[in-house]
Amino acid sequence: MSKKVDKKDEKAAAPAKGAPTKEAPKAEEPKKEEAKSAKPAAAPKAEKKPKKEEKGIYSIYKVEGDKVTRLRPTCERCGPGYFMADHHDRFTCGHCGFTRYKRA
Ligand SMILES: [Zn+2]
Repeated sequence: MSKKVDKKDEKAAAPAKGAPTKEAPKAEEPKKEEAKSAKPAAAPKAEKKPKKEEKGIYSIYKVEGDKVTRLRPTCERCGPGYFMADHHDRFTCGHCGFTRYKRA
């Protein structure tokens, strides 16, 4: 059996030259097999996935010219700085659990 090693895989496995590799070519142990027996080897698929929409703190601010508006209410209990999550019928604070129901 010939070893097939893609350049990509080589890079991922060994980020720096001279660095000690974790995967030492030891003889196969029965314990290892037991732990990772179900997963087959990585398929040679290299399809590029569309980038996920990144979320960050900027996603709850809206900049209009010089002004910045907050798109989420802040928690009443925790004070400004703690935004509340926007659910379909309520806002909740992830910090203290405070919930405010939306009014129709
Ligand atoms: Zn809170």
